Amino acid sequence: MKKNNGFERICVHDRVPKLNTTPQQTPIYATSSFAFDSIEQGIDVFLGNENGHFYSRYGNPTVEAVAEKIAALEGFGLPNPTFGLMTSSGMSAIATLFFGILKTGDKVLTQGNLYGGTNDLFEKVFRKLGIETVIIDLKNIEAVENALKNDVQIKLIYLETPANPTLACYDLAALAAVGKANQRWTVADNTFATPFLQQPLAVGVDFVIHSTTKYLNGHGNSTAGIVISQHETLMKKDVFTAMKLVGTNLSPFEAFLTNTGLKTLSLRMEKHCANAMKVANWLTKQKQVQLVNYPGLASHPDHILAKKQMKNGFGAMLSFELTGGLEAGKRFMNRVELCQLAPTMGDAATLILHPATMSHLNVPKEQREKNGISDGLIRLSLGIENVDDIIADLKNALK
Ligand SMILES: *Cc1c(COP(=O)(O)O)cnc(C)c1O
Repeated sequence: MKKNNGFERICVHDRVPKLNTTPQQTPIYATSSFAFDSIEQGIDVFLGNENGHFYSRYGNPTVEAVAEKIAALEGFGLPNPTFGLMTSSGMSAIATLFFGILKTGDKVLTQGNLYGGTNDLFEKVFRKLGIETVIIDLKNIEAVENALKNDVQIKLIYLETPANPTLACYDLAALAAVGKANQRWTVADNTFATPFLQQPLAVGVDFVIHSTTKYLNGHGNSTAGIVISQHETLMKKDVFTAMKLVGTNLSPFEAFLTNTGLKTLSLRMEKHCANAMKVANWLTKQKQVQLVNYPGLASHPDHILAKKQMKNGFGAMLSFELTGGLEAGKRFMNRVELCQLAPTMGDAATLILHPATMSHLNVPKEQREKNGISDGLIRLSLGIENVDDIIADLKNALK
């Protein structure tokens, strides 16, 4: 019996390497807690007198390294420091921010064509908590200003640009300015554009949120989100407290996958955008296509605004309507081969979706139609394949 003493201890106790050289890549710190050298160090770390990790829900080195990288991209070239907190999904980024800075009785001023999940989050979760959304046309800055002046309960303006799935664009600078002038926050979901194309913080937006699940990861292999802002106290106290107590923190493995994708963000976005521009132009010339929504087309109602605020391209999302309506749309969706039928976007592969029956299924038909989401609308998320192959696939399906 005696000879086994200590055997299990060797199994159980880790020999965590203390390295003299630095790993060239950010490692996955798959650990839920961090050990202290002494009780004194433990007390100091807990009190915040000494820097140090102690429990991964409060902070994990892998997750923090990736959050810092994305914050640096959103804050690129800006004089003040930018802070980021990664969360378990894009949805939880929005929820974490709201838990952090809103309370019962507050209202959110927003647009009617939000991402379907965000709309549901507002209607099914936050409304029950007494946080209401007020839907308005965010293109009408005067109406926004009046709403802010007439309703003191509105605490923030929440916007998405370009927005699902007609690619309507909203003026980030103008909305940030009207928010500031009336002491309200602005929050922008920058998922569609990424900081490579558009930088909301640079024009005065207070908070940026992302579903990094999409372009920032870019490979469709992780679900994650982030809240980014230059408001240090709000981020380090209010939003951080919500994250750690609701437990919306990200896992280090998902952060690692996001980081790998981030390395090629510029390369991918350039190719995504170039492919989208070519496909959009091609679609406008097809007789079976009634309408093409792409902000890069001069015919798009928000083309001039998109040109002003999207600096390196118009994104890789577009939508179009077939002359044959719902039935033609369904047939088309079943005939594409290269384009994959998947309810996400921002992947290396070209993805196709039918908003009325997929992403916007839970949005009331009336609200859908008011925002141009007809039953025959098809959405494309352009991938980075050879554009001739993408066009050949669409051509074949249109026949
Ligand atoms: C996907 C998406 C979200 C939600 O992100 P998840 O990572 O799926 O939780 C929010 N906003 C936009 C614009 C999205 O495309």
